[in-house]
Amino acid sequence: MGMVFYGAGYFGKIAWEHYTKKKYADRLIGFMDGKKTGQYCGVPIVSWNDIDVAKTAVVITVQNPYVVSQIYRELQNYKVQHIFWFINLNWTETSNSFLSSECIEGSNWGACPMPQAEIHVADYCNLNCRGCTHFSPIFEREIPEFDVRINDIMLLKKKFSSIVHFSILGGEPLLNPDIIRYIKETRKLLPNTYLQIVTNGLLIPRLSEDVFVCIKENRVVVSISEYEPTHRQIEQIRDKLNQYQIPYCIRSYDSKQKFNKPLSLSEESKYPNICISNGCVNVWNGKIARCPTLMYVQKFNKVFAKNLPTEGILDLRDCPSGEELLEILQQQVPLCKHCILCEIEWKSCGAIPTWKDFAEKD
Ligand code: SF4
Ligand code: SF4
Repeated sequence: MGMVFYGAGYFGKIAWEHYTKKKYADRLIGFMDGKKTGQYCGVPIVSWNDIDVAKTAVVITVQNPYVVSQIYRELQNYKVQHIFWFINLNWTETSNSFLSSECIEGSNWGACPMPQAEIHVADYCNLNCRGCTHFSPIFEREIPEFDVRINDIMLLKKKFSSIVHFSILGGEPLLNPDIIRYIKETRKLLPNTYLQIVTNGLLIPRLSEDVFVCIKENRVVVSISEYEPTHRQIEQIRDKLNQYQIPYCIRSYDSKQKFNKPLSLSEESKYPNICISNGCVNVWNGKIARCPTLMYVQKFNKVFAKNLPTEGILDLRDCPSGEELLEILQQQVPLCKHCILCEIEWKSCGAIPTWKDFAEKD
């Protein structure tokens, strides 16, 4: 099947580089881009009139799941039958097809895909960073019930035709001894989703072979946040992932040393407002919230006897679905007024975390 790369920009160029470097068998017809004409990377920029939408695979090359969902809808309007999403990673598949080696197939994402969502499979963490937007340092060292968390995915799934991008995270997800079951079950429920585990990486050198095999077999990506303790063992972590040919990305040490204290107790803070979790829709114990800070601020309130607003957390069973839910999840919530830009150096909380690890007074 011939294919076109949708997006003659930065990631379009990377897709083209992957395609040419590995000499895949698929035939690249050209790029497609609403804002450009002529050529890109020496390949023609084509228009809808130049391709047969029933027989051509259109590969979305942008990486942001929200933009991917928008483009997907546009492609549906043009009745494109074969839709793929290029994922810019170190895939190690041996197929000679670019589409099956480097892309996720989205042809069946349906009428209303959810761009991005996440679940905790462990609420607590082995790093306890100050300013953690999931408030993991104040959660008990308990493992959640498997059925409850999987049920959250099932409830979410009923609300949308599919989920484009899904993260298994925490806390530290690899603290959960049931991680293999989670991976298998999540993949079964979300067969056409970009699925990733977000981890601080510290447990990777000690994981059993079974976990790596399961990650590999289920086409799960490992996304590593490289904090200072991670940095000290980054070579061991890389070696392990390379040994099992697992695709991974690293959110670099440099970026992870600057941290943010996410909240102010005041809604008129002296710090500028910022949203650092926009679009990270979180589901937890039958609820859905537009970001983890909102979902877990209830824990912050409980532990530190504070009263930050929790409006906007919805019951997954009763809330609307599809477009209506997507719209609700983009609306401002009262907590947004408390979200601030207050840069701090990365550090662990002390033995007993205090509210000042997460919030400023003014
Ligand atoms: S590693 Fe991540 S989840 Fe764990 S405490 Fe730090 S920021 Fe939170
Ligand atoms: S509460 Fe609002 S501003 Fe704060 S992280 Fe969530 S969505 Fe962003």
